[in-house]
Amino acid sequence: MKGKIIGLVVVILIALGFIVKQAMPKKYTYETVLLDTEKKILYKAKIPAGTKFPVKSPYSGKKTAYPAYQCLEDGTIFPYVPPPPPKEGEPVPPDFGIPRCPKDGSTNVTVPQIPEGKEYIQLE
Ligand SMILES: [Zn+2]
Repeated sequence: MKGKIIGLVVVILIALGFIVKQAMPKKYTYETVLLDTEKKILYKAKIPAGTKFPVKSPYSGKKTAYPAYQCLEDGTIFPYVPPPPPKEGEPVPPDFGIPRCPKDGSTNVTVPQIPEGKEYIQLE
């Protein structure tokens, strides 16, 4: 009888472990282009999903790197800081989380491209 209970407990523990593992968010990284705002360097980076910015730049050695965007209207390359999630009950602006060009306010933006074979671009 005792052996059966222990066996049952083990089965339940294994099942619980499995459920917890399934419920955990999967950790994955994605490749993107970051802008080191101190060194003015645009570079490719692999960052884990859910990363908070700024992140440490390998070029400045400091937390000066933000996601980079480029305006399709005038070519401006600018850093974008994702806003914190809105508080509950607060109205969410319609352009929430949309990168906007600091020069002309355009939302017609894209992620700048680093030429094949290059790791980074030095900006002006
Ligand atoms: Zn622009």
